[in-house]
Amino acid sequence: MNGLSEAQLANLTERLRQRKALLLAEIRSGLDRAQVPHYAELLGGGGDAGDESVAALLRHVADAEIARDIGEVRDITAAEGRVAAGLFGACTDCGDEIGYARLSAYPSAKRCLRCQQHREKTQAPSKYTQR
Ligand SMILES: [Zn+2]
Repeated sequence: MNGLSEAQLANLTERLRQRKALLLAEIRSGLDRAQVPHYAELLGGGGDAGDESVAALLRHVADAEIARDIGEVRDITAAEGRVAAGLFGACTDCGDEIGYARLSAYPSAKRCLRCQQHREKTQAPSKYTQR
């Protein structure tokens, strides 16, 4: 069981839906931005090496933001799948209630705080632990 009232569950699923719509809009506009061919000109520079570095940096930042947004959309989609399966609000590791306070702060949370902290302590933040 997830320990959530119907109203709490409705509130959280609505927030997931809105957050996902916002992220998808951000991703779309981020992709549009990334396709602007001449960042350096937009920044008012004359196209020397320094301007090119700034342009490259901006492009990198935009990509990182898009990657983060896409990751969050995937988390939200997974959370929506747990709602559909009746598993939302239960920790995917131990099955205990995640709790409304934590879900309210982080609606796509899939672990209870205890399991999340355990995971962060025991797993080094490397590219091999992201999947
Ligand atoms: Zn847990």
